[in-house]
Amino acid sequence: MELRWDPILREWIIVSDERGKRPLLPENFCPFCPGSEEVPSSGWDVLSIPNKFPSLRPDPPEPRIKSDRFYRCSLSRGVCEVVIYTPEHNATLADLSVKNIRAVIDLWAERFSDLGKRDYVKYVFIFENKGRVIGVTLDHPHGQIYAFPFIPPIVKREIESSKRYWKRNGKCLFCAVIEREKRDAVRIVCENDDFICFLPFFARWPYGVHIYPKRHVGAITDLSSDERDSFASILKRVLRKFDNIFNMSFPYMMVLHQKPTDNKQYPFYHFHVEFYPPYREKNKIKYFASVETGAGTVTFDYTPEEKAKELRESPET
Ligand code: ZN
Ligand code: ZN
Ligand code: FE
Repeated sequence: MELRWDPILREWIIVSDERGKRPLLPENFCPFCPGSEEVPSSGWDVLSIPNKFPSLRPDPPEPRIKSDRFYRCSLSRGVCEVVIYTPEHNATLADLSVKNIRAVIDLWAERFSDLGKRDYVKYVFIFENKGRVIGVTLDHPHGQIYAFPFIPPIVKREIESSKRYWKRNGKCLFCAVIEREKRDAVRIVCENDDFICFLPFFARWPYGVHIYPKRHVGAITDLSSDERDSFASILKRVLRKFDNIFNMSFPYMMVLHQKPTDNKQYPFYHFHVEFYPPYREKNKIKYFASVETGAGTVTFDYTPEEKAKELRESPET
């Protein structure tokens, strides 16, 4: 296991052959249900545990391949954790009460600050892959955390743009997006006192909403207690809307974009959540095919305005 540098795209690849050799789990066995190996049988609502097949480790083995000046390798140093949202095997994040979603948010914040403090962790990436169609094999509701030894490329790009905007305009690029989305109004999905959810003008996925705190904060650890409640509440509303669009448990990728934890200052960065749901219509999958994957350019076969309207009108019950 090691990191390999791609000198053409200038980014790290995480090579972990151990993961490819993960054993198949016996049917009907859930490693995240209470009472199984690392999961206490009671006394918890939400839990984080080490990922049993991590692609990043606090004490990684030396790379098998010698790094040279042209083909560079590095240690796969980091942490991979699993966040089990609830002891309830058949629930989803959308089914949890706002209070229990708040508990998930508190755990995210705690893990962000704990992992972020380690000197080898430059970026704490909190995410959820949900649904078989995304490739998730375990149904038990859970998310994951990757504590990276580098700032991943998408975040890096957001940092470069927002830093430039901050320098040129003296204000936050993300705040400017929120302001503009509020003014245009047609792409707003829902909002409350502290948070707003919209399908941005530049949406990449048919239902790919973004959720932003209205106050300029860089990470969930900067949110007040009331704001964390508002965050839980809007998350629940958005997830309910998702499930109600096609009357199915809606698959998605959900990522938290927060400031890096490399001890540098990021006053220009603004925390937000992004969703990438793979559906574009009922029973129709949006593939990131050649144009998206090979050219890096997204094709959006609708308008963000019409998709936002669908979501706005989708019930929250
Ligand atoms: Zn389970
Ligand atoms: Zn901002
Ligand atoms: Fe982002």
